[in-house]
Amino acid sequence: MPELPEVETVRRGLAPVMEGATFLKVEQRRGDLRVPFPRGFVRRLTGRKVVSVGRRAKYLTIDLDDSTVLVVHLGMSGSFRIEAEDGSRPTATYYHAPTKLSAHDHVVFHMSGVSGKPGVRVVFNDPRRFGLMDLVPRSELAASKHFRAIGIEPLGNALDGAFIAKAFAGRSAPVKASLMDQRLIAGLGNIYVCEALWRARISPDRKAGTLATAAGRPTPAANRLAAAIREVLEAAIRAGGSSLRDHIRATGELGDFQHAFNVYDREGKPCPRGRGIIRRKVHSGRSTFYCPVCQR
Ligand SMILES: [Zn+2]
Repeated sequence: MPELPEVETVRRGLAPVMEGATFLKVEQRRGDLRVPFPRGFVRRLTGRKVVSVGRRAKYLTIDLDDSTVLVVHLGMSGSFRIEAEDGSRPTATYYHAPTKLSAHDHVVFHMSGVSGKPGVRVVFNDPRRFGLMDLVPRSELAASKHFRAIGIEPLGNALDGAFIAKAFAGRSAPVKASLMDQRLIAGLGNIYVCEALWRARISPDRKAGTLATAAGRPTPAANRLAAAIREVLEAAIRAGGSSLRDHIRATGELGDFQHAFNVYDREGKPCPRGRGIIRRKVHSGRSTFYCPVCQR
């Protein structure tokens, strides 16, 4: 399942071929993904120009020149690939050689060229069809069903120790569960929460409220955690961005990022800090990996 860094990597891959380009033709090959496509999807996109390719939590937000936003979620298995219309190699951050049409290619955007480059096909492939595409007026985006209940952006300026102290104060839930709560911080998944807690030396079971002082100020651990979240996400995005081409498999799907995880999926292995053996616990079907020695 794509996590936030992977979605950001996709955004960076799409931006060079979509920003400033026009939808010359749109192929919608079925009526729904996880939910139906919006009415008039093809008609409303055709002829529109892309102003910018953005991201909010795990959604891509593609701003169009008529002040609507194409909202895309990759779901469990969604991916994009970029193909040259004429069979040449497009000047994109990532690309895939032209293939015969796949049964799981549900949407094809035929984009005009930008900056003198030839146009490309941007193909959305989603075998499990948990993805989503919607068209939302820009002015209604924040209040839309996709975004109205989600918390702050973990890579934005709002995330700091003071935010964590304010959001977590008085909570007796474990800090890990609170970090996974999308209403507080949006887009943090299991892998990066485990890694951030290790980096900040905080036990996943610690009560969230202990990251705030009695006066509601951030503890040193809250400040460490805010920095750790940003660091693990940025490292993952760097890893994705620096090797994008390597992650496009023959199927055209984004492969797994080859992160050097410190705790995730390392049960029984030594903690990189030198003492302690990584443990795994299962809570509500999800594995938590942590070091019982250095995470308190
Ligand atoms: Zn350790």
